[in-house]
Amino acid sequence: MRIDVLTLFPSMFEGVFGASILGKARDKGIVSLNTVNFRDFANNKHNTVDDYPFGGGGGMVLKAEPIFGAVESLTEGSEEVPRVILMCPQGETFTQRKAEELSAERHLIFVCGHYEGYDERIREFLITDELSIGDYVLTGGELPAMAVIDSVVRLLPGVLGNEQSAVTDSFSTGLLEYPQYTRPAQFRDWSIPDVLLSGHHEHIAKWRREQSLLRTLKRRPDLLEHAELTAKEREWLKRQQESSDRS
Ligand code: SAM
Repeated sequence: MRIDVLTLFPSMFEGVFGASILGKARDKGIVSLNTVNFRDFANNKHNTVDDYPFGGGGGMVLKAEPIFGAVESLTEGSEEVPRVILMCPQGETFTQRKAEELSAERHLIFVCGHYEGYDERIREFLITDELSIGDYVLTGGELPAMAVIDSVVRLLPGVLGNEQSAVTDSFSTGLLEYPQYTRPAQFRDWSIPDVLLSGHHEHIAKWRREQSLLRTLKRRPDLLEHAELTAKEREWLKRQQESSDRS
């Protein structure tokens, strides 16, 4: 996969792109991670990339020319049609589903804003997706883009050592992940659930599934609406809910 990031602050990505899973994926040649300073496409005497909004009002607006110029420099002569993703608090809320969808693409281009707004023609005529990482406002699109890139790249085949870990991650299954324990089995006064020491794989799988369901019921009941559950599991959850309502 090829990922390009349009930003005014390429240095923000240096550590992130070189470390941990992203660094390993890059070293293995699974992904190419590249930043483009769109100020290089400003095309005016003072290299400005923002301007006052038509109609007045506060804040500056990111100009269309440098963003179009930078994207076109990346796509020139290529047959591939990339996804061009605008990081924006007004966009679709980013989810694991979206990460899965984007991980199937060959080329992603991220556009990181840094001003009050974008010239609307960028939205209308250039970008394919608008993504928000949540209902809060950050200073720029760099941190949101890093979050999205990390979650997409870790899904690419060969990136995670243990492929299974991405499959059981929270949200991948439609549920939150079950509780995990590691050695020692007894830490201070706290021991781990006996079933995990039983060596009985079927019992362990059943316990994990139930814990996953319970945790989702308690913390994110909204996820259960769309989760793939058997009729038996829905019935079991109903009983759990009723008994917690009574207590
Ligand atoms: N005035 C804009 C609005 O109300 O939508 C907010 C601009 S914000 C200060 C500057 C830039 O930070 C945005 O253009 C976007 O690239 C990025 N940004 C801020 N919060 C974000 C979020 N929750 N998700 C994705 N990008 C965000």
